This record gives sequence, C-alpha cells and structure tokens, in this order.
Amino acid sequence: MTDPVLTLAADHGLTRAAPAPGDSPLAIRGMTVSYGEKPAVFSVDATFPPHAMTAIIGPNGAGKSTMLKAALGVIPRLSGEVTVFGRPIGKARDRIAYVPQRASVDWDFPATVIDVVLMGLYRRVGLLKRLTGAHLAAARDCLDRVGMADFTDRQIGQLSGGQQQRVFLARALAQEADLYLLDEPFAGVDAATERAIIDVLKALKAEGRAVVCVHHDLATVARYFDHVFLINVRRIAEGPVATAFTAANLHATYGGRLATAHLDQLDLGLGGAS
Ligand code: ADP
Ligand code: MG
Repeated sequence: MTDPVLTLAADHGLTRAAPAPGDSPLAIRGMTVSYGEKPAVFSVDATFPPHAMTAIIGPNGAGKSTMLKAALGVIPRLSGEVTVFGRPIGKARDRIAYVPQRASVDWDFPATVIDVVLMGLYRRVGLLKRLTGAHLAAARDCLDRVGMADFTDRQIGQLSGGQQQRVFLARALAQEADLYLLDEPFAGVDAATERAIIDVLKALKAEGRAVVCVHHDLATVARYFDHVFLINVRRIAEGPVATAFTAANLHATYGGRLATAHLDQLDLGLGGAS
C-alpha cells in the first residue's frame, strides 16, 4: 500500500507520519451535516491518530457535537464517508464507545448506577442472554475504576453532575472499545472528577486505545492531549499539539472571541505567538 503521508514541520525540524486511513481509529471524508438550510458541519475531513488522545476544539455552536453524532450515525449526514480502523463504520460499531454531552441526557430516566453500567455490556453479551455474576463483577470493576463503587444502587438522577459523568465513563469502559468518543467529559465537573476522568482516559491510551474528546478548556489542551482538531463549521486545522495548537490556528477558529490576554496564558505549540 502507499507510504504514510509525512507531515513536515520544517521550521522546527519535526517530521511526523500521519496515520494511513486504514490505521486511523476514525477517519472522516467530506462530511456535511445540516439541521436546516445552513450546514452545521461543512465538508469536513479528519484523520484521528491511533494510540493517542485527541481534543476537538472550537467555539460554542461550531459543530463539535454534531460532528461526532453524525460520524456515529446518531444524526444523518448530507454527505461524507466515515471509517473506523479502515472499515465502514457500520461494520465496526462494536469497537466504539460514545459518551454524549451530559446536558443532552435525560437524567429522570429511572435506572440505578449499576443498570447504566450493565447497559454497556449488552452489546457484548447480547440483549437476550442472561447477565451472570461475572457480568455484574465486570460492571462493579468499571465503577471501581472511576471511583463510584459505593454508589451501585443509587438512582442515576440523584447523583451530582460529576458523579453522573463518572458513571457514563464506567459504562463506556464496560464496552471494552478500541475507540472512545467523549463529548465534553469535563464540563461542569469538580476538580476531583476531572482528575479521575483524565487518569482513566490516560490509562486507556496506555492500553493502546484511541481517545477523542470534545474539549472546551483551552488551558488544559497541552497538558491532556497529544493531538488537536480545530473546527468552526469547517475544519480549521488538525495535528500534534506542538504544531497545530497555535495562536494563528486559535484565531482562525475563535476569531475575535479569544482575547490576546487569554492566549498568553495558554501553553501553545511551537507555532504559537512569540
Ligand atoms: P457545539 O457542540 O460545537 O457547541 P453543536 O454541534 O451542538 O455545536 O451545534 C452546531 C450548530 O447546530 C449550532 O448552531 C446549533 O444551534 C445547531 N444545532 C445543534 N443541534 C441542533 C438541532 N437538534 N436542531 C437544530 N439545530 C441544531
Ligand atoms: Mg457540543
């Protein structure tokens, strides 16, 4: 097959191989999504790297959630091809775990914490098969990994925002996916939960899985992520944090919404403001 495409960052003497589409945990080509007349996502290409943590960043309403949902087929695409590890997404669903934006979930849904995590096992177990003690133990183990082992029988609606987010992450862990897609997992959570979530995500990466997060906090991009994808309806830039998370790309993405004072506080990549 073809050689990997080399992305050359000549100014800094860096070369980095972009993943061949077949290796990419998630590759999107020419995706356009529209709720009405104006596209929310327009002609977007993306090639997320394997064994890495990627942040999708962009202002409110930029189409970040839409991009993930349409890639997954939760909402329809007007156009676009989506492959997961080189296969059409329809044939690779069992390799993906998705944690939606917390605000979009109906928390009045009557379910206990352990029920929610067990839902993550159904795809592997099969809806009609009986859950066994081993499944229950696996679900408890996932709750333990996110620090929620003491809340097994609690109603999900009675938990704090941070606790709910941890339970949703535990459900995703139960799926034993190779690609984790999370929509703003740190939004509205306390510092302890943020720490717990990032530790779990870093452990997933260490196990060789790919993690892609919609992320709203520019101050933690450089600390948490390896790779960034910047979007504002269109794709603005994509690449390693060191070369793509730059003042110029942030300006192109956020426009006037990002004050220079804010930029000064960010740990920007090599191409950042001097
Ligand atoms: P982000 O996640 O980047 O904040 P979204 O993907 O949620 O942005 O939204 C992108 C655009 O699409 C916004 O203008 C938003 O108002 C619009 N939008 C999102 N969901 C819907 C919907 N269900 N119906 C109509 N418009 C929507
Ligand atoms: Mg969103």
